[in-house]
Amino acid sequence: MNAAPRKDPVAVESEVREKIHLEILKRTGAYHANDHILLPSGQHTTEYIEKTLVTTEPSFTEGLGAVIAKHFAQWPVDVVLSTGPGALILSHCVARAHPSRPIVVYGTKGLTGGERRVSLPVEFQRLIRPGTRVLLVEDLVSTGSTLTLLINLVEQLGAEVVGIGCLWRRTSGDFNGKPVFSLVSRDFPTYSPNDCPLCRRGVPLNEEFVRRRAQRRPSTVKAAKSRDAGGR
Ligand SMILES: [Zn+2]
Repeated sequence: MNAAPRKDPVAVESEVREKIHLEILKRTGAYHANDHILLPSGQHTTEYIEKTLVTTEPSFTEGLGAVIAKHFAQWPVDVVLSTGPGALILSHCVARAHPSRPIVVYGTKGLTGGERRVSLPVEFQRLIRPGTRVLLVEDLVSTGSTLTLLINLVEQLGAEVVGIGCLWRRTSGDFNGKPVFSLVSRDFPTYSPNDCPLCRRGVPLNEEFVRRRAQRRPSTVKAAKSRDAGGR
């Protein structure tokens, strides 16, 4: 008899789900795989996510937000706190689909004396009070340092972090024991150019993403001179 080890059905189901979510992200053009990519750090990798493209398809974003909301539906949530303006569209979709009908706010990131910090815009500060139940939402979790800072901020205000929902989690790190739900949990190895297996095999290096970052200049339109300002 063939006694191939059988996989745990729960693990299989989450594997299938993850594949579907990856496929959705691929269709937005945000996820690149099976490539040989130069990262801004100078490292090489096989996979890449363009964060700014993740939420360009409204129906996909709504669908993915609903999956996160469904996971946290059993917990009452007063506020969905986006880690920054970048994750705000996803946060909106999560809040819209959560049965508690939470409000949505966002944190801001910055540097003070070379140290990373997060804060809440003044207008939002009164919305997170002692006892407020907060769901944190992030698009891509790499090191998780922003999330850790935000958890501390929420707890300093006397509020409670219900959990963390994200699209993509690259780290398996722990966030003070808070429940984390991610649509895709996947880290990809990065290599220094000297011991990159793709370089060794002679696979051409894709420098597109680094070049694009170097050229990144927002398109601007100058305000019209007064001649046009008053209309006709
Ligand atoms: Zn390489």
